[in-house]
Amino acid sequence: MSLNECPNCGEIVKTNEFFCQRCGTALTSPQRPRTKEIKGYIQIIGTVEIVFGIIGILFGFILLLFAFFVPYLVGTDSFVSNGPSSVDPTVLGGFLGILAGFLAIVGMIFSNAAIVSGVRLMQYKNSGRIGTMVIGAFSIFIFPVGTIFGVIALYILTKPEVEPLFI
Ligand SMILES: [Zn+2]
Repeated sequence: MSLNECPNCGEIVKTNEFFCQRCGTALTSPQRPRTKEIKGYIQIIGTVEIVFGIIGILFGFILLLFAFFVPYLVGTDSFVSNGPSSVDPTVLGGFLGILAGFLAIVGMIFSNAAIVSGVRLMQYKNSGRIGTMVIGAFSIFIFPVGTIFGVIALYILTKPEVEPLFI
């Protein structure tokens, strides 16, 4: 039997409730220590989300620098003599610059959203819980670290005892 079921009737009960909504049985331990454990996981998820967000912003800046300089790098003599002769270096450099700039901006917006969500999650704001689930879902595609984070975050935050902790 799960710790989040009423011991009398088996109804799923919220961790902050003192009585079962269905049969009225008093709910004491072992629900309380479980809440503390879940809160610990939420704080860890929020911290990791903020750290990933900061790393993402830093990578975004590096990518943005690359975006600005790649047209000049591709246009250099050494690249032209060693590179594929069929490609116009000006076109290739411009294309790579736009692509890198686009990825940098998208990455920085996503990273900023991760930081904001992480802070709100750690403050038990419901917007932080929703935001972290959205970030977690997208993170699954960032293999392998983002995948691990996304799966764990979604697993913890979709537990029925988590929602009542948030305001
Ligand atoms: Zn009950």
